[in-house]
Amino acid sequence: MRLILMLLLLAFTAAAQANWHSKTWDAMGTRLSLTFWLEDEAAAARALAEVMAEMERIDQQFSPYIDTSELSRVNRQAVHATAEKPLAISPELSRLIDKSLYYSGLTQGAFDITFASLARYYDYRNKLSPSEAQREALLPAINYRLIHLDKNRHTVWFAHPQLYIDLGGIAKGYAVDQGVAILHRYGITHASFSAGGDSRVVGDKRGRPWLVGIKNPRADAVAISLPLENVAVSTSGDYERYFIADTGERVHHIINPGTGKPSKGINSVTIIGPVGFDTDPLSTSVFVMGPERGLALINQLPGFDAVIITSQGKVLYSQGLTDPR
Ligand code: AMP
Ligand code: MG
Repeated sequence: MRLILMLLLLAFTAAAQANWHSKTWDAMGTRLSLTFWLEDEAAAARALAEVMAEMERIDQQFSPYIDTSELSRVNRQAVHATAEKPLAISPELSRLIDKSLYYSGLTQGAFDITFASLARYYDYRNKLSPSEAQREALLPAINYRLIHLDKNRHTVWFAHPQLYIDLGGIAKGYAVDQGVAILHRYGITHASFSAGGDSRVVGDKRGRPWLVGIKNPRADAVAISLPLENVAVSTSGDYERYFIADTGERVHHIINPGTGKPSKGINSVTIIGPVGFDTDPLSTSVFVMGPERGLALINQLPGFDAVIITSQGKVLYSQGLTDPR
């Protein structure tokens, strides 16, 4: 009797396990990880395939590393367009640029997709920084006000011949939201989806919250574990893409648009909020704004919270996460 009971119990847990689906893969230049609960196995396979295809589509359309992407085409052509003859773009790219410009305004230019006019000459693999001559010549091309977007007509033109945009600070959060929209269409109510430092958790983990980890920026370890449900979480860190220069300086990928150089003062920023389309640009923004201005911004945005690890290793929390007593 005991044995039968145990076997039954085992069968039950196996079946329960089988309804969780997990997949980790590389796309969009990063590691993606999806876990969700769905009882219908065939539907689960279709949901996963759809999410994977959507990530591939987003990469093919918005990657600066793919010559045939819409983003690459715009970078080639928008510098030749004018107010009289602007360049037609997709409604989707128009939306991404519009959101980016919104965050440029909100952050006084800390978030600026034209950072790439100069930063495209950082070569992290070969440990190369732009020259001083390049910095001098291209710093004036870092200015979001030089992007002229008509978000209703879906056209754009760039008012500087060397302007270049890169959506690396916003596209992954957007992609994660797109993936979650697919999961919702399948009626999935328990899921966790991450693309590099950008994640969303849907519902809970069937009875307990999802645990989202904030990495120790200087060790391969989780520093803080956040129990969360139904939120987006984006982390920007100086450890994600970087090289150590001969001077000993850490040359990382989050650029202060004012100097064209890697931003100092913070090692990582985590933003918690409703969707990745906002938490992703906000994490990059707060990283550039620094602990004080960054926290002040998050504290005035309802529905958003932040955890900052400063370059001194201090952990700072926004008001929504600190004990109200
Ligand atoms: P994240 O991982 O979301 O912090 O985004 C970092 C990425 O955003 C970098 O790899 C760049 O592609 C892009 N980026 C860097 N600096 C900026 C900036 N100041 N404004 C907007 N995007 C940026
Ligand atoms: Mg970001």
